[in-house]
Amino acid sequence: MSIHDQIVGLIRQQDPEAASIIQAEADRQASTIELIASENHASTAVMHAMGTCLTNKYAEGYPGRRYYGGCEHHDAIERLAQDRAKQMFGCAYANVQPHSGAQANAAVFMALMEPGATFASLVLADGGHLSHGLPINFSGHYYKPVHYPLVRDEKNADFERIDYDAVRAVCLEHKPAMLLCGYSAYPRTIDFARFRAIADEVGALLMADVAHISGLIVGGQHPSPFPHAHVVTTTTHKSLRGPRGGLILTNDEEISKKVDRALFPGMQGGPLMHVIASKAVAFGEALKPEYKSYQTQIVANAKALAGALVEHGYRITSGGTDNHLMLVDLTSKDPQGADGTLTGKAAEKWLENAGLICNKNGIPGDQRKPMVTSGIRLGTPATTTRGFKEAEMKVVASFIDRVLSAGLAGEDELSRVTEQVRGEVRDLCAKFPMPGH
Ligand code: PLP
Repeated sequence: MSIHDQIVGLIRQQDPEAASIIQAEADRQASTIELIASENHASTAVMHAMGTCLTNKYAEGYPGRRYYGGCEHHDAIERLAQDRAKQMFGCAYANVQPHSGAQANAAVFMALMEPGATFASLVLADGGHLSHGLPINFSGHYYKPVHYPLVRDEKNADFERIDYDAVRAVCLEHKPAMLLCGYSAYPRTIDFARFRAIADEVGALLMADVAHISGLIVGGQHPSPFPHAHVVTTTTHKSLRGPRGGLILTNDEEISKKVDRALFPGMQGGPLMHVIASKAVAFGEALKPEYKSYQTQIVANAKALAGALVEHGYRITSGGTDNHLMLVDLTSKDPQGADGTLTGKAAEKWLENAGLICNKNGIPGDQRKPMVTSGIRLGTPATTTRGFKEAEMKVVASFIDRVLSAGLAGEDELSRVTEQVRGEVRDLCAKFPMPGH
């Protein structure tokens, strides 16, 4: 019996209702293909480190200076996570306590900017995260965001890539306290050195939110934000393949002190010590040689998926991908263009019914609302964990095309093809079991 079955069996003895829901989710994950770029399948050790007695403890403060007794082993596990985080990124200071990526960003803002200060980030609809200046988020509510765009000129070789001239112009005009790079839906390599040169020119701090690409960075598949960024934030659950959580890194002692204070007691109370234990386990995995092969395969798989979709007639924004994700422009397939039926919302639902899980996503300059969109975002960290290689990614591209083409052909065709593809997805999934099963 797998560890998963044993654990759900134990829960079932006490709470059959909760156990059934957990099992249903396990079955969903096992029988569908996960293409959401920000998700992954954590290893058995990473998952179950979270299900340990470390959840029972209050450990407010930091190792060696806690506000509660009995923290000896919590100090040890937090130091282990910190040391491994520093080793992964080759930097001097790590705070492993943020409960999430958004919390990590909030703590950095609180540590390094006065309320009302100006910061520069990417136009959110072009691929930024809500914690980079959405008006109703803390970042837009308590600070003043100014935004730089992607290149919008189709004739420019850098179409839909970061417009570094615009970054500089926005910074020269607004003199932000902080310049933010790192995104949620950007498929290309980020030039951290170029960002740092602009930050230095205007006297701003450079913050890199590498939530999406942190696994690639650790695995050597994307340049490191160090030594360029003053401060780096990331989630731990996306390409990095740890538990859900956040992480803050820096080489600057003063910044690290301010960040520690801003996170606790500024932002959070007790750290989630069971999650910190799991972060330590995940970081240990990331330091193993096979992690580099995993990250290399993620990028190879993304290129294979993007290339195969192009062959099926889809436009990929910016013409392709350098990392783990891509944005598929659905208007390239729907002859009716912006008024057509193939929206991101429709595609997400049709694909889900066939067992292909992804999310609708705006494309740069999207005319449709965020709950509708003209694109879908696809990523390869989860399928790569499962063992998919380039050949399987081509099969996935053909599944996607069959479903979306059927959707355009009408309801009868969609339901016929959905059933057919759903069966083929189940068969493929059965050949690539989930970690721990
Ligand atoms: N930063 C970026 C670039 C992200 O893409 C995300 C999440 O998608 C976050 C921060 C926020 O992470 P969390 O959902 O853990 O708060």
